[in-house]
Amino acid sequence: MCHGVCQVLVQIQDGRVVKITGDKQSPTSRGYICPKGAASPELLYHPDRILHPLRRAGKRGENKWERISWDEALDEMAERLNRIKNESGSEYFAMLQGTGRPYTGFTQRFAHAFGTPNSTGVAHICYIPRVLASMITCGPLPICDVYGFGGEYPACVVIWGCNVTHTGASDGMCGGMVERALKRAKKIIVVDPRRIGPAKKADHWLQIRPGTDGALALAMINVIIKEDLIDHAFVDNYTEGFERLVEHISPYTPEWAQTITSIAAGDIRDAARTYATTSPACIQWGNAVDMSACNFHTARSILILRAITGNLDRPGGDVTWVHPKGVRMKSPFANLDFAGMQFLPPEKQDLRLDRKRFPMCLIVHPPSFWDSIITADPYRIRALWIMGSNPLLTMTRSLEIEKALSSLEYIVVSDFFLTPTAQYADLFLPASTWLERDDVVNMHKLWCVTAQRKVAQVGDTKDDREVMIQVARRLGLKAEFPWKDYRAFLDWQLEKTGVSFEEFCKKGILQGKMRYYKYKADGFPTASGKFEIYSEDLSLQGISPLPIYREPPLTPLSAPDAAKKFSLILIAGTKIRYFFHGEFRQIRSLRERNPDPLVEIHPATASSLGISEGDWVWIETPHGRVRMRARLFEGIAEGVVCAQYAWWFPEQGAPGYGWKKSSVNLLFGDMPYDPDTGSESLKSGLCRVYPASNEELSRNNSGIQK
Ligand code: SF4
Repeated sequence: MCHGVCQVLVQIQDGRVVKITGDKQSPTSRGYICPKGAASPELLYHPDRILHPLRRAGKRGENKWERISWDEALDEMAERLNRIKNESGSEYFAMLQGTGRPYTGFTQRFAHAFGTPNSTGVAHICYIPRVLASMITCGPLPICDVYGFGGEYPACVVIWGCNVTHTGASDGMCGGMVERALKRAKKIIVVDPRRIGPAKKADHWLQIRPGTDGALALAMINVIIKEDLIDHAFVDNYTEGFERLVEHISPYTPEWAQTITSIAAGDIRDAARTYATTSPACIQWGNAVDMSACNFHTARSILILRAITGNLDRPGGDVTWVHPKGVRMKSPFANLDFAGMQFLPPEKQDLRLDRKRFPMCLIVHPPSFWDSIITADPYRIRALWIMGSNPLLTMTRSLEIEKALSSLEYIVVSDFFLTPTAQYADLFLPASTWLERDDVVNMHKLWCVTAQRKVAQVGDTKDDREVMIQVARRLGLKAEFPWKDYRAFLDWQLEKTGVSFEEFCKKGILQGKMRYYKYKADGFPTASGKFEIYSEDLSLQGISPLPIYREPPLTPLSAPDAAKKFSLILIAGTKIRYFFHGEFRQIRSLRERNPDPLVEIHPATASSLGISEGDWVWIETPHGRVRMRARLFEGIAEGVVCAQYAWWFPEQGAPGYGWKKSSVNLLFGDMPYDPDTGSESLKSGLCRVYPASNEELSRNNSGIQK
């Protein structure tokens, strides 16, 4: 269901899914299952799921719908898209997708096949910045080698801005496997402003000031080079630009970083020594690295740490997997060709709504996307297909998004439930859950692909990929979507393996044959063939060829005037164990464990503000205020608060479902973005927090203040 590749056993009684458990035989997850996975039967049979296509029958937001057939829905959609293409041009249609899903390659392919450069989503703040930094520096994104294929396990595990053992999954890694690696490790280093689970048993917990990871990484490089803890054989033979790094890194001392990160210089030195001298070592990095205005350079610095200590592509280090032979990849992370860029002529590529803004933003930068709809600059798109996303909750500048959605001519939403965003739809297409889909699971380029067998069908829901194939065929895009249906596509994926989908389901998994130290024979897939500490390509693009640090735009250091009124540091975008982004607030067993939106606050800070455990409080920034319950937590620094995100209240009913009460994205406005990737600094905002009275809460139904 998410990004964990957990293999599970589904128990069925009288044709009904009754229980889901982790599969102890699974080499990818060893019996692990998170609460979200276990609650999937509730999702499958939830009474509020939409089970048939709906067409809007009233005004937008009136929640009036008429039930229609799939043929009517898809015919209408094809007719509307064709009309827009003929009248205005194919670029007047856009696609929007939420988090990475099994259909990610399909959404890109569909957009490009139709002829529009306008796809948007959350790539600028999630995973892709690290993928881009890796591609330029050394090739595919390195992943912790926790499976022991090479006879070694990580002796040192670094958890850097990634709460994977809590959330359950990250970048194709199962949280249960990271737990196992932590149990085996001799040394644990955790970089996190919050005392997350692994920090409790860590040898070094570096409680970093939010958003300053780039400074810490540079200082660790400084220590490792100064104390000559580097792997000379690797550096001498397989890297480009080390000598330039030696000179470049000299001002980035632990003392310099201490003033930025709030971590004592001695602690930075100790952690750097532990990392460099406990071999092999791996770094499980995560979303905190992405959500920053310095994400690209921070990711490059962390890659350099791995390289100069000789931890790349060695057993127990950070590796790139060897994919199973013959399996055709569908994810653009693994196969850019599948995304179908070749279908888009150069003159169409030039029409991208944000083309000149961020050189490394792979898809249209969301704030620019919504602005273009509001201002019609450079032009206003006419139709939008939103797939598996609730942007009113999951993207910043929510009120602008609301305005933009209101002014669009035609909106299609594919989802499980009606949501605040879906209330703006002209057409609602009901999506099937993972239990209702056959699949060759390979969203990330891993050492295996796993089988997913359809075991249920509720109502008239459909796999989103099937829907895209059927719309594409109605639009005459048969060359780009040659498969007659989605099952035919799965057969095509497996065609060269000599294994049919049925046989694949019986096996459950196809594995690649792992090879380590691939760079010795093959070089690195970069411009120079080496690990590019110094990147000439970046220099030519006007980007620093060696990693730098950039202070986030809204901190007590960079915005001292704003910090006088908004004196607390705000961490947002943190994932919750029981929900997947904006999903599952209506799943009873999950909601019971986290019934209200929570903001973590240190007891001393809370006491100074007159706040007690469980109190409703306002969190306010210059852009608005939202309400949450205070959770007192000694594991967060004084003066820092961490607010949950993507909250809405399905039980409060259409059309708004109370989405303006507690959605943290209402607190963010236009801001200086990462100049390379367009990322937003969501882990390091400024806010103030104060108690909310009962009277005030009942009077003010909306959290919007300004
Ligand atoms: S971590 Fe993700 S893939 Fe694993 S059980 Fe949970 S929801 Fe499923």
